[in-house]
Amino acid sequence: MIKKRILVTGGAGFLGSHLCDRLVREGNDVICVDNLFTGSKDNIRHLLENPYFEFIRHDVIMPIYVECDQIYNLACPASPIQYQRDPIYTTKTSMYGAMNALGLAKRTGARILQASTSEIYGDPEISPQVESYRGRVNTIGPRACYDEGKRVAETLFFDYHRQHNVDIKVMRIFNTYGPNMDIGDGRVVSNFIVQALKGEDVTIYGDGSQTRSFCYVDDLIDGMIRLMNSRDGFTGPVNIGNPGEFTIRQLAEKVIELIGSKSRIIYQELPKDDPVQRKPDITLAREELGWEPTIQLEEGLKKTITYFEALLKEKGEL
Ligand code: NAD
Ligand code: UDP
Ligand code: UDP
Repeated sequence: MIKKRILVTGGAGFLGSHLCDRLVREGNDVICVDNLFTGSKDNIRHLLENPYFEFIRHDVIMPIYVECDQIYNLACPASPIQYQRDPIYTTKTSMYGAMNALGLAKRTGARILQASTSEIYGDPEISPQVESYRGRVNTIGPRACYDEGKRVAETLFFDYHRQHNVDIKVMRIFNTYGPNMDIGDGRVVSNFIVQALKGEDVTIYGDGSQTRSFCYVDDLIDGMIRLMNSRDGFTGPVNIGNPGEFTIRQLAEKVIELIGSKSRIIYQELPKDDPVQRKPDITLAREELGWEPTIQLEEGLKKTITYFEALLKEKGEL
């Protein structure tokens, strides 16, 4: 097999570290570019000694010149708490990061995949969300730095494709969870698991009736690699996520039950513009990629609980 040289931006983050793992394991030569804004060297520590894995500490806002055959563009904080910490920087990361990665793809002829998001649908009026739905984003709200940054990135991808014939793949990722999420990441699955393990109050924002669809990371990475290697001319955008839909209250109850935790549920203020519902229509992924998720919520939560339990014990917090 000829080794492919693959660039992964955001490779030290939650999804990126799983992707680097898979790509190295499958015999590729992987370059991970990350400035560790939300990612961590701990996620890729086991790869650092491998001669077919290179870590470059670099901010994707700045140009980068390397040679490669494929680019996965994942660099961008994904948790609302993290991306709202420095919203202007979030938009710069999405926009300049995409432009530099596309410039690199244009120069090298590499195929390039964008980690886009269900957030481009905003607070959707239709459910499930299908790729042709154009979304309902508040352009001036606190989530806009992320949502609009990701939307302009999609625009850049399609313009580089039309104008410069860049070989693009655009993936709209729905809420994904699993090992390697940062303990302090702030997203709902890691928050609830860590709170329930420690016996602390489980914090539901709003009344918990809002819904999300949760995909386990292994399924997601499988879909991502399938999309990258899909037929010539298939650009997407394509939804990748698990169509199983749960209210946030159901998620809290499930986590508490699986852990056997004594934690209480408490209700806190709902953040502004928090989407009411989210559920992917994955017909296109099924047809084009032969992909659908195989790991259902309870099984995925158990694996994630095992990970956080070990991590908290290692840190002496359990
Ligand atoms: P994450 O925060 O764990 O990972 C993002 C990585 O990007 C981190 O390692 C971070 O340090 C790096 N990064 C951020 N800004 C950077 C910059 N300017 N230069 C270089 N590196 C930078 O988040 P994640 O969940 O792994 O998400 C990865 C990608 O997938 C993101 O683009 C995100 O928008 C997208 N996505 C994720 C989900 C999900 O549920 N996990 C859903 C939709 C989309
Ligand atoms: N770029 C990069 N690496 C490369 C090629 C380009 O980071 O290997 C950057 C380049 O600095 C530019 C951006 O990608 O800012 C877009 O490149 P493009 O060629 O489209 O733009 P131009 O250089 O024509 O403005
Ligand atoms: N949420 C919650 N408690 C938490 C963290 C999040 O109730 O401790 C809610 C949040 O308000 C949203 C849902 O869980 O309705 C998913 O939030 P997350 O930050 O994981 O991702 P989002 O889908 O909003 O980008």
